[in-house]
Amino acid sequence: MFQKILIANRGEIALRVLRAAKELGIQTVAVHSTADADAMHVRLADESVCIGPPASRDSYLNIHQILAACEITGADAVHPGYGFLSENAKFAEILAAHNLTFIGPTADHIRVMGDKIEAKRTVKKLGIPVVPGSEGAVTDDREAKRIAADIGYPVLVKASAGGGGRGMKVARTEDDLSEALSTARNEAGSAFGDDAVYIEKYLEKPRHIEVQVMGDGMGKAIHLGERDCSLQRRHQKVWEEANSPALNVEQRTRIGETVSKAMADLGYSGAGTIEFLYENGEFYFIEMNTRLQVEHPVTEAITGIDLVHEQIRVASGGGLSVTQEEVRFHGHAIECRINAEDPRTFVPSPGTITHFHTPGGLGVRVDSGVYSGYRIPPYYDSLIGKLIVHGRNRVECMMRLRRALDEFVVDGINSTLPLFRDLVGNVDVANGDYDIHWLENYLAKST
Ligand code: ADP
Repeated sequence: MFQKILIANRGEIALRVLRAAKELGIQTVAVHSTADADAMHVRLADESVCIGPPASRDSYLNIHQILAACEITGADAVHPGYGFLSENAKFAEILAAHNLTFIGPTADHIRVMGDKIEAKRTVKKLGIPVVPGSEGAVTDDREAKRIAADIGYPVLVKASAGGGGRGMKVARTEDDLSEALSTARNEAGSAFGDDAVYIEKYLEKPRHIEVQVMGDGMGKAIHLGERDCSLQRRHQKVWEEANSPALNVEQRTRIGETVSKAMADLGYSGAGTIEFLYENGEFYFIEMNTRLQVEHPVTEAITGIDLVHEQIRVASGGGLSVTQEEVRFHGHAIECRINAEDPRTFVPSPGTITHFHTPGGLGVRVDSGVYSGYRIPPYYDSLIGKLIVHGRNRVECMMRLRRALDEFVVDGINSTLPLFRDLVGNVDVANGDYDIHWLENYLAKST
């Protein structure tokens, strides 16, 4: 087992990883920018190292500084959290070259899944269903038109290097296609330095359903069920739940087994998420995330398995602590991502939180790095906390969520708490009756 883990992240996820390491009796090192000197994970870590000024590229993305912090503190492993360097294959390679363990999959797997065309090709070979579309990059407009006519309009032009919902354009007719191709290429070229684009069928009313997997890197992999993350705004997840209200046990088992078999065949190591769009009873792969996800706690709530413990165990060569047969799903869990934003306009609201009170009681978990008097720096994402509620079934979970939201106090800044108080009372949400466009339509209607 590791002696000391350096946590190359900030905010709630740094605290999340720190908690897991402490439970396993592992020493922790926090790294932070000058803007985060007062952060909770810095206060709670055994050691901390300032790695640079506020801008992420100079601190949390600065590989040299992180390596130096490992060297100074004698850390033997690095947990990257999510975002920042978590899906940077080069970072994983550099750590290995310095005899440090990257708590995550191999650099090769990160690289393959980071390139959407390559990822799609790879998972298709492994038996995972994908969205119908071009075989690879499309470079020629005439060829693009032929492919689009073949799969049928509307189609979506997507950037191979895309992320965060950028570099995607819908074409509803052949006339739209040339423009969609050139816009997507330009956007991708300037945002990601890679203008390769591909085409797939645009699904009109899908749900976003993703499967959590854990591989031991030695040919075994398990799935921990799915999460439904259909409630999104600008492709950003807002509310996530497990299980999906749209799936039954057979569908869950079938997709779970397909995915875990594929990951076992790939020799995947650590935590990963296979994201699908789900429409008319069919799953269509869209991408794989080779890291822990923001919404992992809903899976932890229904399985009782600590995903960060598992990541650390696997990375240290200890394998998984459970077999597929031992995994049980209990009840229902919902996560609300509480952001420091105006609940109507979503304009970020940095500043000082004058009062912060979190709800508690049975089945209520809050993952947050903020506290009363904490000043939210303007440099990073606006997530201030995640409320995760668990119940024996979805109805109980919703009742508990409503109560927990009522108890939650965030004063001094704007937060998205009022949005969740509205959502928990909405009839479609209560019925689990929503697709990936539902929230945008709801917000458009209510302003
Ligand atoms: P990113 O890496 O930018 O998040 P994804 O491939 O995960 O890109 O897609 C992000 C979102 O875009 C999805 O959650 C979904 O809302 C939408 N999307 C992606 N592919 C399709 C598709 N083929 N049809 C309809 N919507 C899609």
